[in-house]
Amino acid sequence: MTSPHIPGSLDIEQIELKGFSRSIAEIEWLLLILILLYHVSPGAEVANPFGLILSMIAFAGFILVFHYLNFYERQTRWKLAIETWVMIAFITWVLWNTGKADSSLLNLYLLVIIASAITLGKLTTFLEVTLIAAFYIFLNSHIREGFTLGEFTALMTTFSPFLLIAYITAMLAADVHYGKKMFKELAELDDMTGFLNKRSFRVMLSRETQLAERYSHSLSYMIIDADNLKEINDKYGHTAGDQLIKAIAKNIKRCLRSTDVVSRFGGDEFVALLPRMDGKGAVVIGERIRSCIENTSFDSGGKRITSSVCIGIATFPEDADSMDEVMEKADAALYQGKQGGRNRVSHISIADNSLEEGDSAPVSAAA
Ligand code: GH3
Ligand code: MG
Repeated sequence: MTSPHIPGSLDIEQIELKGFSRSIAEIEWLLLILILLYHVSPGAEVANPFGLILSMIAFAGFILVFHYLNFYERQTRWKLAIETWVMIAFITWVLWNTGKADSSLLNLYLLVIIASAITLGKLTTFLEVTLIAAFYIFLNSHIREGFTLGEFTALMTTFSPFLLIAYITAMLAADVHYGKKMFKELAELDDMTGFLNKRSFRVMLSRETQLAERYSHSLSYMIIDADNLKEINDKYGHTAGDQLIKAIAKNIKRCLRSTDVVSRFGGDEFVALLPRMDGKGAVVIGERIRSCIENTSFDSGGKRITSSVCIGIATFPEDADSMDEVMEKADAALYQGKQGGRNRVSHISIADNSLEEGDSAPVSAAA
């Protein structure tokens, strides 16, 4: 079955998270600068100037450690979430020292809400707005003393813009995220079968080859090609041919493991990588695929259509020292299968590079 994890795409996620992390760092510096400007402005009323300066130094230290010391290089959403929590705590402390709920710095919470909505999604942002509301109630002694209808209205008036901004930013971020996901799928997957396309397969091939070399395990490579698809197209139409390609894909998927990687290389040709699978095991799987497809038929315009495939197999390092060579050998095995009458599984054997063929039935292109 197609592995959903393509190293290239993981990198894209890391690149995205690194971008978010940079944006959050910028927001944090901006926050610090705004508080500093407020602190040095003539009208500033600060209850505990020394405590405020100390907290600013501590927050600057936090930004430096989190972003520039790389103590944990890999970016995660958790890391971003921790930063937004620290920002909320820091802002609350600043508000506590600058007029509490009446502080003119109350809108600084918007920076956290925007940062969170862009990077952490709707639910987390909603939870953070709730946390901010709880802190606001904590800062507001009137509300703490008795939550009257008037106080509730005042709270809602203060928080409505916060909620609105959180909602709009989170919606926009979700749209951008969805667009990126669609783009990624279009770029990485074959739309007819949902398998990896050739480009993504190459990324997986390189990763699996490295793993096989590093851990000295087998890596079998399989090429599967439909027999006489042209004939089916000519006889029953292109739609029937498409249906056949989909049926073949379904059978391949059913017979492979979740750790196997499969791709539609184009036309009626599929390739699969079977990590930790030697040649003998791969032939058994190939036979299973061949037999499933041979026994599958579908209806097209009232006619029952059946088909078959040829499968060429070669294995690293049994058959060759490099994957390029393994692929060439699998190709040669496939060609031999076609020459030998189709509906065949062929494997290049190690000993003499002669061809071993699995049990096969005669070709049945269309009925
Ligand atoms: P062979 O048994 O030797 O593989 O013969 P074949 O007829 O299957 O021919 P081949 O594999 O060389 O070429 C595949 C043909 O499949 C070429 C083209 O006419 C057809 N084809 C390629 N892509 C598609 C597709 O997306 N849909 C359909 N219906 N046909 C396709
Ligand atoms: Mg073919």
